[in-house]
Amino acid sequence: MSDYETVSADVEHEDEIPADHPRYQDLLTRHRIEKGVEKGITHLQGMHAEGRGSAFDYLLGEETIPSADAAERAAAAHLLLADHPVLSINGNVAALVPAEMVELADVVDADLEVNLFNRTPERLEAIADHLRGHGADEVKGLEADARIPNLDHQRAKVDEDGIYAADVVLVPLEDGDRAEALEEMGKTEIVIDLNPLSRSPRVADVPIVDNIVRAVPNTTAHARNLADASEAELEVIVEEFDRERALEAAEERIRTGL
Ligand code: ATP
Repeated sequence: MSDYETVSADVEHEDEIPADHPRYQDLLTRHRIEKGVEKGITHLQGMHAEGRGSAFDYLLGEETIPSADAAERAAAAHLLLADHPVLSINGNVAALVPAEMVELADVVDADLEVNLFNRTPERLEAIADHLRGHGADEVKGLEADARIPNLDHQRAKVDEDGIYAADVVLVPLEDGDRAEALEEMGKTEIVIDLNPLSRSPRVADVPIVDNIVRAVPNTTAHARNLADASEAELEVIVEEFDRERALEAAEERIRTGL
């Protein structure tokens, strides 16, 4: 049995988690979600979402599989081609990858918009502050002056000059109803979700079946590599990406380990 078999649940700071622990990334992720709940950034339900994600990640081998890497490259191409790309932030995203989302937004020139399932003014403000603390200049989602059609009132709230007007949206860990409603609005939708059977990746133009802690930095790396690519080259990457094949490859890895 490893010395690290048990890592105390009351680790105060993530530096206390041994970096060579075999489950390091999972422990770090759990710790960040717990801190997110403590800070009022993440809803308690976010912990359940994290638990589901963690089980799928275990079965994927806790690595970015080749089809996910291809999806991340296609996502980078879509974001670079977009007229008005927006990255949507919820409580889990803010807790897990705040600096990484700010960096991606910088590289592809996108807006950041807070969009919550369990929406309260306190959580909206806490998340916006948290993002600003990680370098964001402007955070959208506080105005909520437009509505996504065909969704109940609370979940439909978006900014008119943000998600409402966007042509390409990155919606990580999105709830299925909202993902469907955004798709119906005709947006190009990029979803990050570890469950390939969940409704959100199934309606996405680009389903990324990968842990958000790997997916966002890898998408940024692709965007940097593609910074000098022509529009025609980016369009070829978008055309060649096969969403059905990506979903099938992820499901096969989870079911068979292959
Ligand atoms: P549906 O999309 O059909 O409504 P659901 O109810 O399971 O499915 P939610 O609870 O709304 O979905 O969202 C949680 C989703 O986020 C799960 O599919 C889970 O696998 C995924 N998830 C959780 N943590 C991560 C993570 N770190 N990276 C990527 N995906 C994650």
